[in-house]
Amino acid sequence: MRRLILPRSAVHRGPLILVNGDHPLTETGTPELAVVDERFPAVRLERRAAVLLAACIQAVGGWSEIVPVSGWRGRGEQEAIWAGSLRDHGEAFTRAFVARPGCSEHETGLAMDLGRAAAEVDFLRPEFPEEGACGAFRRTAARYGFILRYRGEKRPLTGIAAEPWHFRYVGTPHARLMEENGLCLEEYVPFLRRGERRVRLDNGRTARVGHVPCWGARTELELPDGCCQVSGDNVDGFVVTVWE
Ligand SMILES: [Zn+2]
Repeated sequence: MRRLILPRSAVHRGPLILVNGDHPLTETGTPELAVVDERFPAVRLERRAAVLLAACIQAVGGWSEIVPVSGWRGRGEQEAIWAGSLRDHGEAFTRAFVARPGCSEHETGLAMDLGRAAAEVDFLRPEFPEEGACGAFRRTAARYGFILRYRGEKRPLTGIAAEPWHFRYVGTPHARLMEENGLCLEEYVPFLRRGERRVRLDNGRTARVGHVPCWGARTELELPDGCCQVSGDNVDGFVVTVWE
């Protein structure tokens, strides 16, 4: 066993942070970024998420059909998108499809909007249909750690309308658990609080996933030796993953 001591600020960092209208991003640093598709050098994601997104596109043979439309956005870019959408589309549209600056997953570098390759691709609402490589990507994404973040039926929880083009990196065990249990990210920590979960991965390994609440200024965790990950949830604690 080894001991890990986490400061309160660690709640706001990691691949499982919940970012929405009620839980803004508090860390404003730029993540380490990488390009997903060399033909679109301006569209970048956090490095590990970029590698896995590219691997998923490769796995479904999607390079000619799928284009990365919008990945990491700095605060200034999100502000410009919000203001431009208000001006061009009005308030109802903007509140449905654009997150307020500070509350956008795109500012984490963990979210990507994908579109179907076409002469013109809508920047705010790209087409990403069920057919072809786009549909195959959607069905395969969880194996590479991505979730379809905004489903129509979850709008009361997410505050965002259905966005069939917006994918969020959370990591494979978590994407699997959310998909198998029909959960959006808002529901995931409450689900883990009811008890530790085990999930069987494609490579035959098993991951154990649990939640530990934050205990004030310093939270002490006992972790087994071997492969572990601790991520803040951006609410009140940490998601602990142990690969067995
Ligand atoms: Zn998006």
